[in-house]
Amino acid sequence: WNGLLALNDGSLLVNPELLYIKGVQTMSLKLENKIALITGAGSGIGEAIARRFAQEGALVYVTDLDSASASRVAGEIIAEGGRAEAARQDVTDEKAWGTQLGEIIASQGALDVLVNNAGIAIPASVEDATLEDWRTTQAVNGESVFMGTRGAIAVMRERGGSIINISSIEGIVGEAMTAAYNYSKGGVRIFTKSAALACTRKGYPIRVNSVHPGFILTPLVQGALAGMPEGEAEEFVTRVTSAIPMGSMGEPLDIANGCLFLACDDSRYMTGSELVIDGGYTCH
Ligand code: NAP
Repeated sequence: WNGLLALNDGSLLVNPELLYIKGVQTMSLKLENKIALITGAGSGIGEAIARRFAQEGALVYVTDLDSASASRVAGEIIAEGGRAEAARQDVTDEKAWGTQLGEIIASQGALDVLVNNAGIAIPASVEDATLEDWRTTQAVNGESVFMGTRGAIAVMRERGGSIINISSIEGIVGEAMTAAYNYSKGGVRIFTKSAALACTRKGYPIRVNSVHPGFILTPLVQGALAGMPEGEAEEFVTRVTSAIPMGSMGEPLDIANGCLFLACDDSRYMTGSELVIDGGYTCH
């Protein structure tokens, strides 16, 4: 619908501005007029972040290795009344970072929020991991976060912004079957603090924080389970679920809401922080 909707209590819902007006009070959207880039946003957690940011007024750049999934997500956001652009972006490609950020600055004049979300998990213990899989994991999960953060700082340093790096609980605690993933996510955790300090030292109004999701049922987790030896996947799920104090895996929206908090001014005094969203998993 495109007009006004009068509610029983006298409130008025207004679309397309998406303002909620009651009497003289007006509540604005949390990311109104903000430009956000979310990598790996064609599925799972990245998709949920893109949808949530768009609901709060951001123009979201939905990028993914798979252009079809990026286009699907952007198309659905637009169909729901949001603003989105889709693009293929391989986060391991340094040139592609320059192209993507350049396009955003050329067409929008600014980037306010970057979410380094794209990631992979190739399950293997320290004894079983191959060097090839190890390097691929570090390139997608680690090097991309460095290139994205460096590129975003370059375009944000005058006007400011928020950079959100998706790490994991496995950047905090170890898991025998995910040696390369643990290494990459632990790197993202501490790199985030280094980048946060580099920005404050230079006086840039840029905040850099990491998010640490617990177990969220997405294609990444389903794929990792499918790659485990027979019997181990079931044992892994039973063990993990019983170790989550809140009793179940989380949903992508749980992570998207945390990212929204870090993206907007509600978290204006936070930088170099770790936002853990894990149903209590890392408490013990
Ligand atoms: P997902 O559903 O597999 O989404 C990851 C997305 O990243 C996919 O769309 C994938 O595209 C994309 N991608 C992979 N390699 C890429 C590359 N080189 N360049 C650009 N995009 C690439 O996984 P998810 O669970 O939502 O994970 C999102 C982030 O959360 C990851 O960083 C992950 O490590 C982190 N995380 C997830 C969990 C969890 O339980 N799910 C827990 C902690 C942390 P394709 O599908 O086309 O390959």
